[in-house]
Amino acid sequence: MDARVYVEISEARHLFQRYGNRLLSDPCVSRLLKQYRDAIAKTTRMMREMGMQGECARCAAEGPGSCCFSGIEEGYDQILLLINLLMGCNIPDTREIAGSCTFLGPSGCKLRARYYYCVHFLCPRLHRAMDPLSVKELLRAVGEELHAGWEAEQAVRTSLKRREAMDGNLRSAASEAGSRTMEELYMPTEDP
Ligand code: SF4
Ligand code: SF4
Repeated sequence: MDARVYVEISEARHLFQRYGNRLLSDPCVSRLLKQYRDAIAKTTRMMREMGMQGECARCAAEGPGSCCFSGIEEGYDQILLLINLLMGCNIPDTREIAGSCTFLGPSGCKLRARYYYCVHFLCPRLHRAMDPLSVKELLRAVGEELHAGWEAEQAVRTSLKRREAMDGNLRSAASEAGSRTMEELYMPTEDP
């Protein structure tokens, strides 16, 4: 339990308990979370229609196995995890599958809001299974999802910062990375 991600999970839970209801009642946050949820739903639908989930299930069962390996979760910070909590996700406290990402369960990823690597990654096997036009369409939807995620994240940070200031909490989780660009937020500079 000493990995950084567990500290981030704990901080996200703390923020959710303290500010969750107030964040959800902020009209801007609520609108952008809905927009983000819709974008995620569109990408998920496209992946299902393209047969990607079946291909990943076959890969996990027959090898070489899931690409959701241990360490990738270190790319998640407390604000993106807070957004998952705001979207109703149950974030695990422990790794369920040894050697895999903390957020992987028997039915796949337990998160809804995911960062760049998790959403954008298309392995060679998937590339071979899909026609190039479908790949292009999917990547466009992925781009929309990432952009909607960035907008929702900025709204959450702004709202959180305001509420923390009202509560006199000068150590603001929201302000620590509040000025990062979309690329910095969703494209880690180091490999996880
Ligand atoms: S993305 Fe590729 S490597 Fe990862 S589980 Fe799916 S088929 Fe396997
Ligand atoms: S898709 Fe989910 S389970 Fe896979 S690496 Fe990303 S967060 Fe982990």
